[in-house]
Parts: sequence; structure tokens; C-alpha cells
Amino acid sequence: MLTYHTWDEEKPSFSSDNETKGALDVLAWAYDHYQDDIVYACSFGIEGIVLIDLIAKVKPDAEIVFLDTGLHFRETYETIEKVKKKYPSLRIIMKQPNLSLDEQAKQFGDELWKHNPNKCCELRKIVPLREVLTGVSAWISGLRREQSSTRRHVEYLNKDEKFRSIKICPLIHWTWKDVWNYVHKHELPYNELHDKGYPSIGCEPCTSPVYDLENLRSGRWAGHEKIECGLHES
Ligand code: SF4
Repeated sequence: MLTYHTWDEEKPSFSSDNETKGALDVLAWAYDHYQDDIVYACSFGIEGIVLIDLIAKVKPDAEIVFLDTGLHFRETYETIEKVKKKYPSLRIIMKQPNLSLDEQAKQFGDELWKHNPNKCCELRKIVPLREVLTGVSAWISGLRREQSSTRRHVEYLNKDEKFRSIKICPLIHWTWKDVWNYVHKHELPYNELHDKGYPSIGCEPCTSPVYDLENLRSGRWAGHEKIECGLHES
């Protein structure tokens, strides 16, 4: 089995020259290869909706983990409920941080996301994901190359040094238009905030509407020198 420790062994290659630009083949390979030794960490943004629909075709009882920081929009939680209804066999797990918001405020000060968003993301996203990934060989992510300069070199299969895992990114070749075409074609439920100027949706205090459609993640951590939560940095 391809694991973090056997990465240098021969890896499979996939063609992007098909209807899902390789995504379905990558997922079919991943679930066949890793069986239950893989999780999808889903933010339930629009790419997540596409991935869930594709995953349900190859692994109807797949484990989907949502990093529930306790700071998400009401609309995001509503989206999760809609997804649960549409795909009842998927196992959707709400992973909470070790500290409640009150405990975090007592230890690190009120509204940590305002004065130290990196620490806040570490406590509420990175540590919980590390706990989820302990004991599994691989995880799936909805990264697309088009999303930002930091994502241009992402491959279908990536050695993830940060979490000592294999990160699988089936949507690397998908454009923003591809994503929406798929969602509309298959009439998938999605977060209504996408229709209100939020192309990328994270925690409520750190997500603003976007007016620059050339930079779809510009509404995240506006006013801070931060463009990633840290889950996808080595
Ligand atoms: Fe905290 Fe903002 Fe990161 Fe959410 S996105 S964990 S609120 S800093």
C-alpha cells in the first residue's frame, strides 16, 4: 500500500482527459487502495459538494470529517444537514477542537482570530485535523490549482509532510466554471452564501464577501497577511 513511508515506490498515474478531469478515477483508486484507511476533510464549500457527490458514487459509506470550529455560519450547518439528507449512508463526523470558545478566550484572550488568527486556526483546525489523521494513511482535499498561487503545483497524490500522510486532491484540474456546471447539472444542494458573494466560505469572523472574482479567496482573513488556514502548508 502506498503510505507516507512508501511514497518513493511506484505511484499510479491518472489521465485528466475525461468528463471529471480525472477526479472519479482518482477517487475510485483511492477508496480501493485505502479502503477505510482514508478520510475526506470537507469544509462543505462548493468544491466539497462536488467531491461528496463523486465520493458517494465510489464509496457510499465513506467517512467525511467536518472541522467544526464552532464559528461557522448558520448556512454552513444547514448545508451539512441537506447533505446528510441526500446521502444518508455517508458517515459525517463533526470534529470539535479540544478547547471550547470560552476556554480558548480564557487562555488566549477574547476573539483570538482578530489578534492571532494563526494561533486560532492551529487550535481549532490544525490540531483537530492532526487528531483525525492519526491512524489513517491518507486524506482527501478539494484543492484546485486555479484557487491561488499557493495551490498551482498541487498533484492528484501529494506527500503531506505536515500531517505525515498522503493528501489526495481529485479536483486539481477543475475550474470554477467546471465546479458550478457540475453542481447545476446534478442539482446538488449547496451553501446559499455562495449566491450572496461568498465564493470561499470558512469561519464567520474570518470570511467576507468578495468583489474580486479574479481572486476567489480574497474574502478570507481580510486585513491579515494570511491566505491559508495552515492545513495545506508544509
Ligand atoms: Fe479561528 Fe478564523 Fe481560523 Fe476559524 S478561520 S479557526 S475563526 S482564525
